[in-house]
Amino acid sequence: MASDQQGENTRAVHLPQAPVPAQQPLGTPVYRTAAFAFSSSAEYAALLNGEAAGYSYSRIDNPTADAFAIAVAALEGHRLDSISLNGASLDGPTAAQAFASGMSAISTVFWTFTGTGGHVVAPAAVYGGTYGFLRHVAARFGVQTDFVDVTDTDQVRAALRPETRIVYAETVANPTTAVADLPALAEIAHQQGALLVVDSTMAPPPVCRPLEHGADLVLHSATKYLGGHSDTTGGVVSGAPGLISQVRAVRIDTGGTLAPDEAFLLRRGLETLPLRVCRQCSTAMLFAAAVARHPAVRSVDYPGLPGHPGHETAIRLFDAGPEGTRFGTIVTVTPHGGRQAGYELADRLRVGQVATSLGGTHTVVSHVASTTHRQFDDAALAAAGMDPGAVRFSIGLEDGEDLIADVHQALDTLTGSGRGERPPGSPRESPARREHASGAPPLAGE
Ligand code: PLP
Repeated sequence: MASDQQGENTRAVHLPQAPVPAQQPLGTPVYRTAAFAFSSSAEYAALLNGEAAGYSYSRIDNPTADAFAIAVAALEGHRLDSISLNGASLDGPTAAQAFASGMSAISTVFWTFTGTGGHVVAPAAVYGGTYGFLRHVAARFGVQTDFVDVTDTDQVRAALRPETRIVYAETVANPTTAVADLPALAEIAHQQGALLVVDSTMAPPPVCRPLEHGADLVLHSATKYLGGHSDTTGGVVSGAPGLISQVRAVRIDTGGTLAPDEAFLLRRGLETLPLRVCRQCSTAMLFAAAVARHPAVRSVDYPGLPGHPGHETAIRLFDAGPEGTRFGTIVTVTPHGGRQAGYELADRLRVGQVATSLGGTHTVVSHVASTTHRQFDDAALAAAGMDPGAVRFSIGLEDGEDLIADVHQALDTLTGSGRGERPPGSPRESPARREHASGAPPLAGE
């Protein structure tokens, strides 16, 4: 402790700290500190040895990052005590770890549970960043991945090997909106002794809680719905404490820890998550039904539409409120007229905004073939049942009537022709991915 006999610099550095208040703050305090002080070396050593609880260094743990992680664990697992699926009791607490981005969460899970000689089964239409990590990074460290259509459980079963460590799925695929049958995948993975890891970014807790459907770990790009305002990047992984403590150990060594200011914003976002997501789902349902009726539209992919291949699975796995089942907020609209019509549709919107990311307050659109799926050539897009004109809408919090009027005015002006149907029976996901001619891995969009 500095005294007033000391120089001004010493006194400035050692200014008194306000006492820690006894009351629990209603908001989440931001612990914007890299380091924590100890009353003695013995206390410091005890903490590092795991003999005492507390904080030492914010790459290791930070109270604000923990506040966010604990909150997500509560949202993901709040029914675990009461739910029993397939005869297996899902009791026990959930834990979580927070990360600087969704990709940091994803890569840390793979680093934790795979290694040289390990094998992964992942969706052919997996998010591009995950594909890039498995294909270009993990592969260099001896982890092999088979990319299959995970909505076809026979394909998943056929891809399994004795060394399969992870069966990986996305609850709702981007942008096809294919819905994964999580209990079926869990059964297949567990028979093989593998983990089912689920990226549920597109189906956050008010829509689906994969841990209740057999997943061992659920992860999110918190950048999307959890933060919800397109102003923060982050990631989070939840699951049983025994698995999460292994994930934490690798996070500490690889350093993808969430920063305290970001953790504050993400934690704050969670308080309005159900309000936002339920409203966005309701609007998405109205939007999808309205846009499907427009004559310039070739197809609409939305799990809430009865013709969608994942409609029944979604009803079985997704939560419902008084407003009905929550089918998510992603609606993929394919106009007649191919690539040019897709460009025109996206660019002529006045309320919907061409932008990266999704899950925020703004309705955001992207022309799929030139953005998130630009690794797919036209043949691969066709095999996947995706038209080069497909436009993905992430429905925001604007009034539904305004969004419908907006898409209608854009569709009304489309000049494209070439009206055709989705080839009958064509799958919605494809293993074909285009690499850059240079051999450099393509950058994944969001
Ligand atoms: N998973 C999905 C489904 C995504 O859409 C994204 C990003 O768009 C990620 C993971 C990666 O998240 P982040 O951009 O926060 O690293």
